Amino acid sequence: MSEKIIYLDNNATTKSCDEAVQAMMPFFSEKYGNPSSMHTFGGEVGAYIKKAREQVSELIGAADPQEIVFTGCGTENSNMALRGLTDPRKRHIITTKVEHPCVLNVAKHLEKHHGYEITYLGVNSEGELDLDEYKDSIREDTGLIAVMWANNETGVIFPVEKMAEIAKEKNPKVLFFTDAVQSAGKIPVNVKNTKIDMLGISGHKIHAPKGVGAIYIKKGTLITPFMLGGHQERGKRGGTENVPGIVALGAASEQALRYLDDEVSRVKKLRDRLERGILEKTFNSRINGSRIKRVPNTTNISFEYIEGELILLHLSDLNICASSGSACTSGNLEPSHVLRAMGIPYTAVHGSIRFSLSRYTTDSDIDYVIDKIPAVINKLNSISPFQSELRELKEIKTAVKG
Ligand code: PLP
Repeated sequence: MSEKIIYLDNNATTKSCDEAVQAMMPFFSEKYGNPSSMHTFGGEVGAYIKKAREQVSELIGAADPQEIVFTGCGTENSNMALRGLTDPRKRHIITTKVEHPCVLNVAKHLEKHHGYEITYLGVNSEGELDLDEYKDSIREDTGLIAVMWANNETGVIFPVEKMAEIAKEKNPKVLFFTDAVQSAGKIPVNVKNTKIDMLGISGHKIHAPKGVGAIYIKKGTLITPFMLGGHQERGKRGGTENVPGIVALGAASEQALRYLDDEVSRVKKLRDRLERGILEKTFNSRINGSRIKRVPNTTNISFEYIEGELILLHLSDLNICASSGSACTSGNLEPSHVLRAMGIPYTAVHGSIRFSLSRYTTDSDIDYVIDKIPAVINKLNSISPFQSELRELKEIKTAVKG
């Protein structure tokens, strides 16, 4: 067994990069002042927050660093965008059925308790949206559109730049928010020359620590603050700043930009090799989601007729970390809402595993997983209650191959 942890669960969280950890350290001990204090000791900390704001704004191409507001996490960004609607006449929100719960649950809450009408756009079997249906759903009373840039479970990318344009053509006043938590640092994410009004990122998904995030709010966008309190973040987010986290997010953003090309090419090659290896060696595996429009680090693979949780436990015994569905939904027994929206059969949804790579994933990590997976799957196939279905599937796959 590998002594090392083979960590292929980077969409759940990532290891903090050295640059982020080093950057944040002084703010626990030497530079612990409050940036709002009048004295120089605290006040000078503000310069480091300013630098972090510039670094984050570089990562996402904001025209002005002042458009970046530091928050506590990706979930807070979505809450801020959805709950921040100011115009009482705009009570229609458009989102998709495959958003992260931090959007879906806020939408459901607004629908149930605040009289909002929500359109939940469906996806096809590849996890893609129908842009005509989307366009038709935009109304005069639509206040906000919330569409994720990349899906956390399948990695499928939505054409959010184009969607923001369509939105403004049809209704110039509508606000467009995109949850870019799973796309920033993985593919180019740039708000410059787009009609996107708000965009959220989360530190712990891009090699910064947990507990810090940022939301881009385009200059002139009217949003009611969600965290009321002090004047921090120019009144947009009250609460003493998480200075170590913010500084680390700045450093991690700089690194994310630096590694972007590597992430797209090297990580994609590793991911594709992992997929090929698994598909070749296990007859009941299939990839979920468009293989063309996907972030390079993610693959969602179903092992039909066996249970995903069991696969995860066996992999965990081999020191391989993966995930079944999103980290937030595992722990409840509901099958993935994303795969169900794609119309994937239940027998495949239940056996779905997400592998998500990062810049720290190595060739030997992938070799190890490809080597170990067949025995795990064969063992679980042998105890599956779906023996005749598995036999039939094997015959079909063998015939196709032959
Ligand atoms: N949005 C997406 C797409 C995610 O994958 C996640 C976390 O998995 C979040 C938002 C929530 O981010 P955070 O954990 O920082 O609240």
